[in-house]
Amino acid sequence: AGPGLKVISTLSVGFDHLALDEIKKRGIRVGYTPDVLTDATAELTVALLLSACRRLPEAAEQVRSGGWTTWKPLWMCGHGLSDSTVGIIGLGRIGQAVARRLKPFGVRKFLYTGSGPKPESAAEFGAEFVPLTRLAQESDFVVVTCALTPATQGMCNKEFFGRMKKTSVFVNTSRGAVVNQEDLYDALSSGQIAAAGLDVTTPEPLPTDHPLLSLKNCVILPHIGSATYATRSTMAVLAANNLLAGLRGEPMPHELRL
Ligand code: NDP
Repeated sequence: AGPGLKVISTLSVGFDHLALDEIKKRGIRVGYTPDVLTDATAELTVALLLSACRRLPEAAEQVRSGGWTTWKPLWMCGHGLSDSTVGIIGLGRIGQAVARRLKPFGVRKFLYTGSGPKPESAAEFGAEFVPLTRLAQESDFVVVTCALTPATQGMCNKEFFGRMKKTSVFVNTSRGAVVNQEDLYDALSSGQIAAAGLDVTTPEPLPTDHPLLSLKNCVILPHIGSATYATRSTMAVLAANNLLAGLRGEPMPHELRL
């Protein structure tokens, strides 16, 4: 946009796609859309988790392909949430909303990681702050809801998946780059972990011949976390109001503090 660029309004809560150093240097103001997409994204995260752990796309495909024959006790079995340990990477707005929704499924224990303990946020779930290594080792479900930063980029890698249990399920609705996808492929194809659900990938869109798409135990969605009609409408209004306020030199409804 050149030197005339004064205001950026992003239709997202994530801002990893913005060149923040350059934006700050040029004194450009940035509006974003936190809070209003939290519920929709948490809901999608739960849907994706259940799809992956109960193998829903694979099972639905069996109905279509004629794979559904006589009743077999262990056919299409997966892993359930009851009495499980759920580890949340990033107990922020969306992470807390996910925990709030998962608790009634009978989760026994919540673990979380982040830059430090958040006793006030964690109290509602009795969640325990632990190092990433312990979260990987003890969680039956790992849910990634952190921001993409230099510290979180590639955080879920070979070492991380290597610590997870063979029966554990990995879910990412944050940003694709938090995950090393080659390492995730190896973990899923070798049986190191049971299943994965991804709403975000690298790149987006994911090429249709990507190896992850060849795996039955990997459910991949096209970045639809906030995609409800009501949420996208609210986000659009907020983004427009951020932009207008920025152009008028007024306080934005939601301005990113750089
Ligand atoms: P918040 O800022 O409320 O939460 C971000 C969380 O990331 C914080 O809890 C923070 O923890 C955590 N975090 C930061 N650094 C680390 C780290 N090194 N290790 C572990 N956790 C860390 O943001 P939201 O909950 O509103 O959104 C989270 C992300 O979800 C967005 O940044 C975006 O990328 C993604 N998103 C995806 C959507 C989709 O469609 N799939 C839709 C909406 C958002 P702490 O405070 O302790 O630093």
